[in-house]
Amino acid sequence: MKAIVVHEFGGPEVLKLEEIPTPRPAAGQVLVRIRAAGVNPYDTYMRNGTYAIKPPLPYTPGSDGAGDVEAIGEGVNKVKRGDRVYTAKTLTGAYAEYALTLETQVQPLPAKITYAQGAGVWVPYGTAYHALYQCAQARAGETVLIHGASGGVGVAAVQIARAIGLTVLGTAGSEKGLELAKREGAYHVFDHSQSGYFEQILKATNGRGLDLILEMLANVNLGHDLKLLVPHGRVVVIGSRGDVTISPRDLMTRRGSIHAFTLWGVTEAEEKEIHAGLIAGMENGTLRPVVGKELPIAEAPRAHKEILESGAYGKLVLVP
Ligand code: NAP
Repeated sequence: MKAIVVHEFGGPEVLKLEEIPTPRPAAGQVLVRIRAAGVNPYDTYMRNGTYAIKPPLPYTPGSDGAGDVEAIGEGVNKVKRGDRVYTAKTLTGAYAEYALTLETQVQPLPAKITYAQGAGVWVPYGTAYHALYQCAQARAGETVLIHGASGGVGVAAVQIARAIGLTVLGTAGSEKGLELAKREGAYHVFDHSQSGYFEQILKATNGRGLDLILEMLANVNLGHDLKLLVPHGRVVVIGSRGDVTISPRDLMTRRGSIHAFTLWGVTEAEEKEIHAGLIAGMENGTLRPVVGKELPIAEAPRAHKEILESGAYGKLVLVP
């Protein structure tokens, strides 16, 4: 099979398209014919060798794939050959024609969700779901700022928050990103590349502030976020690419809190709940992954450059 293989940590050029043996499922494993693989920012940190998880070399990147079950190992009864599935982590990597997974790592892909959309489910929607429900315990009637509402996680968070009755405000750094956030459910959108947008956000809440902020770039925004919170407001740090200085008094005076997590750390029970919620949302049409761009798998190096550039528009996926 064709697969992207990383033999040494480094820049996007270390992503090589190679012919390698197709894996065979052992007991409890599933072989998925991958039709689309999602590109996530963490794939680039892992490829650089700077991420908390450093896979043994060589490895094939990718946790998020969608496709058809090609074969099952002994004892597998959750899926059968031909079933449409999405993956939440894999054993052998999703940037490939086939990926081996544990039985627990595949979930049914609802009929109305395309393979490309299915490749944008686990990390983006799982993260948004965990942030809103399990971490911040968001409630209908609250006001949430989704800081970075144009990317994979942001679009997912806008759709989920809107569906459960929050007033959603979102930021993006391009015209098309602002339009996307609005189309997917944000009541007000703000350009995070313009100075003065924090004041505009406060104005949009009539000076009240925000109950909740989901933060995709904490190293840039966290200090400002704390000044926008209502009493008992909370920030959930989802993404950060460096250090930041905050004024703890901004939290103390508001009795505010900062939550943070990585999706790798969710418990089995939380993961089960996440999939149940996401599948229900996809089936009833409230969750609709947005695919901004599809590239052939050979262009994985380009995808790794583009995912870190501004001008996000939903998901970037690779097609084997
Ligand atoms: P993505 O699709 O590349 O989107 C990145 C988002 O960040 C875009 O909306 C982008 O907006 C926005 N952004 C850029 N500059 C910003 C600024 N100054 N303030 C606020 N937002 C800004 O990435 P993603 O998949 O949505 O992930 C977002 C972040 O969360 C990444 O850092 C990722 O590593 C992290 N993440 C963490 C977890 C976890 O487990 N904690 C899980 C998934 C993702 P424009 O492009 O429109 O400027």
